[in-house]
Amino acid sequence: MSLLELDGVSVRYGERLALDAVRLTVAEGETVCVLGPSGSGKSTLLRAVAGLTPVAGGAVRLAGRDQRGVPAHRRGLGLMFQDHQLFPQRDVAGNIAFGLRMRRTPKPAVASRVAELLELVGLPDAGPRAVATLSGGEQQRVALARALAPGPRLLMLDEPLGQLDRDLRERLVVELRQLFARLGSTVLAVTHDQGEAFALADRVVVMRAGRVVQLGSPVEVWRRP
Ligand code: ADP
Ligand code: ADP
Repeated sequence: MSLLELDGVSVRYGERLALDAVRLTVAEGETVCVLGPSGSGKSTLLRAVAGLTPVAGGAVRLAGRDQRGVPAHRRGLGLMFQDHQLFPQRDVAGNIAFGLRMRRTPKPAVASRVAELLELVGLPDAGPRAVATLSGGEQQRVALARALAPGPRLLMLDEPLGQLDRDLRERLVVELRQLFARLGSTVLAVTHDQGEAFALADRVVVMRAGRVVQLGSPVEVWRRP
């Protein structure tokens, strides 16, 4: 069964139709990448799924349930957004623990979960470090650990490697793919980088002007550019 289903979802910003009757499904354990130029509606799509932008038409369903009226923090999502910076006044562990604390997770459980996540993203000793001392790549890993912390049923990434240089991106994209396979994660990621989408995705969705114009495996999309 599809974990996520967008059934003709439209979003308006005033006169502008930012999403135009978008249909898309993401199956359990699948990684889907949304590819498209700036302004094509990629971020709006994520925000509509997250409940951060009102939907003007159609339905967003998670595990078959219509999400209308379900607030963002009750949707069971892990978000890693480009504009979603780490909290500079907290250390790395504090950043990762934040969402768990909001859910009133007991302290020892938080500590062991944070240690596990730091291990997972390859920063086992970074817990006490100040965010300001992290490199760009390390910050991305911490943001990913924060998004993964509550064990979300769907992970949504907006330009997950956007700020990084090419070498680091190519390395991290391989790591991400392996990590998601190992965890069995269901992922919806947005990027404007074709190489990144093809390397990361089981299926690629190409958007233009608020519409889905192509949908298929990386090989299928590659053959019909
Ligand atoms: P992408 O993520 O692909 O760059 P967006 O989803 O950010 O695209 O934007 C889709 C369209 O909606 C663009 O035309 C953009 O200018 C417009 N848009 C995005 N956010 C807003 C907003 N808050 N108010 C008005 N228009 C917006
Ligand atoms: P802020 O608005 O203070 O920047 P965020 O929206 O960045 O907080 O949330 C940080 C983390 O906490 C995210 O993982 C988010 O899912 C989680 N979170 C935010 N609000 C809640 C809430 N009301 N209940 C549970 N978790 C939440």
